[in-house]
Amino acid sequence: MKKLFCLVLNRAFLPFDVIPWQKAITLEWLGRCLVIEHHPTEKVRSPSQEFPVPIVIRVSSIRSTVVMDRPTRMMIHYRDNFKCAYCGKTLRDHELTIDHVVPRSRGGRWSWENLVTSCIQCNRSKNQEIWIPRYTDPVKPRFLFTKYLRVVKGVDLETREVWKKHLSGLQKKALS
Ligand SMILES: [Zn+2]
Repeated sequence: MKKLFCLVLNRAFLPFDVIPWQKAITLEWLGRCLVIEHHPTEKVRSPSQEFPVPIVIRVSSIRSTVVMDRPTRMMIHYRDNFKCAYCGKTLRDHELTIDHVVPRSRGGRWSWENLVTSCIQCNRSKNQEIWIPRYTDPVKPRFLFTKYLRVVKGVDLETREVWKKHLSGLQKKALS
C-alpha cells in the first residue's frame, strides 16, 4: 500500500494538519470527524471487509491555521523554499544559515520580517550591512504548514488533486 495521508480541516474548513491514514480511520470509527473525501482508488482491507481511505476530514476543532509570532529557523527555511534570499541558490542542509536582514548589532530582531534564509557565503560577505532580499518575501505567512510540507512529496497524485480543492495559494504552490 502507498503512503497515504489525510488532510485535516478545522471547523471553518481551513486546513491545519496532515495525519497518517491510520489515524484518520480511527477518528472516523470514533465518530470524531466528518469525512469530506475518500481516496478515489485506495482501499484498506481487513480479512472480511474493505474500507475506503479518508484523505480529507473535517474536525470540530476551532484550531486556527495562524502562524506563530516567533518563527523557528526551519519555518524560515520552509517559507523561503530553502533558497538563499540574496543569490537565489537552493541550499542543502549544511549550507543553510539564518540571516538578520537588519543585523542584530543595528537593532534587527528575530522576526518573520527580519529573518531570511541565506547561504554561508552571502551571510559572510553581507556582514553588518543591510541587503535587500531578492528571492524571498520576508513576511509572516498567513499559515505555515510545516508538517504538510514535509509529507507532501510522498503523497500520490490522486490525493494531491483532491487536496488542491481545499488548499489556498501558498499551500497549493508547495504541491506542484
Ligand atoms: Zn547566497
